[in-house]
Amino acid sequence: MIDLRSDTVTKPTSAMKQAMFDAEVGDDMLGEDPTVNRLETSLAEMLGKEAAVFACSGTQSNQMGVRVNCLPGDELLINDTGHIGIFEAGGPAVLSGVTVRQLRAAKGMLSVNDLAGQPRVADQHYCRTRLVCLENTTNIAGGFVYPLEQLQHVSGWARDNDLRMHLDGARFFNAIVAGGYSAAEMAACFDTISICFSKGLGCPMGSVLVGTTEDMRLARRVRKMLGGALRQSGIVAAAAIYALENNVDRLQQDHDNAQLLATKLAAINGINADPGATESNLVFFEVDSELGTAVQLAAALKKRGVCIGPMGGQRMRAATHLDVSEQDVLATADAVRDCVEKGFVDQELVGTGPYSK
Ligand SMILES: *Cc1c(COP(=O)(O)O)cnc(C)c1O
Repeated sequence: MIDLRSDTVTKPTSAMKQAMFDAEVGDDMLGEDPTVNRLETSLAEMLGKEAAVFACSGTQSNQMGVRVNCLPGDELLINDTGHIGIFEAGGPAVLSGVTVRQLRAAKGMLSVNDLAGQPRVADQHYCRTRLVCLENTTNIAGGFVYPLEQLQHVSGWARDNDLRMHLDGARFFNAIVAGGYSAAEMAACFDTISICFSKGLGCPMGSVLVGTTEDMRLARRVRKMLGGALRQSGIVAAAAIYALENNVDRLQQDHDNAQLLATKLAAINGINADPGATESNLVFFEVDSELGTAVQLAAALKKRGVCIGPMGGQRMRAATHLDVSEQDVLATADAVRDCVEKGFVDQELVGTGPYSK
């Protein structure tokens, strides 16, 4: 099976598993896991921040970020495709008492133009607008990469308006590799940054929240409250350290493969793909409605050994990652072409993932 449904499907390699096997561990809740401590320290340093906290998942570290930046009754601003707003089970409302206001920006990337005038005035009727959440790279908005200037512009505006900034960096390192800026340059635009290791970096689990010492002290308490404080978690942190050392630079290959896939798909009649709009490892494309739906195409592809996620209607998303080779990408494009040439409307429907309708 060639699995392009998500970059979360990556499995740890033997070398990564060996690093986990060899990890030096201790009780992290006592601050005594040397591997977790090493991961937290090195990430804080890399991002130019004071501290970091290891978490179980990207959802958990995002929600820790929301809780750290806001008080109950506050409001956060986010693009309407943002993961924190739509894919975290209503977390801000339940865990932080925070309401989510969704805006709509070009390519899912908020600019000062989108945000100006949105914070509510200080009046007893209103909730307090407190936080701006950005996603880089964007997920379902299209896998886009913020230009550094846009991040800096929004960050400066947020500071002028007494708002805090949180980065959903589920694909933080994809953004670094594609954006051509450094981790510290990007992190300087934010108060809190959440980074996932279970996506393109190939780890089985794990995420980190980065920020000030004071904020991370509170984040630790929130993590405990969420049941996410662990003991010998160095076994997992070792995978993250391994990924930082071995799997960051290679993300460029995923981006090249995504570019190749978009180019090959664009050459197929009835498939609408745009290599120019493919900026990272996520390839979004549409199938003409005369041919069938995305769900039907996904079913036909599955019979040919290719898994691609239908995103509702005609839209599909293919994610390249470290378990997908250039050859796999070429085979995928051939499979799509074969489906289009033979027709696929009579496929039984499959694919009831969270993104499909
Ligand atoms: C995957 C992802 C997350 C974290 O999701 P988990 O399932 O908790 O790992 C957060 N934000 C974005 C944009 C994501 O794509």
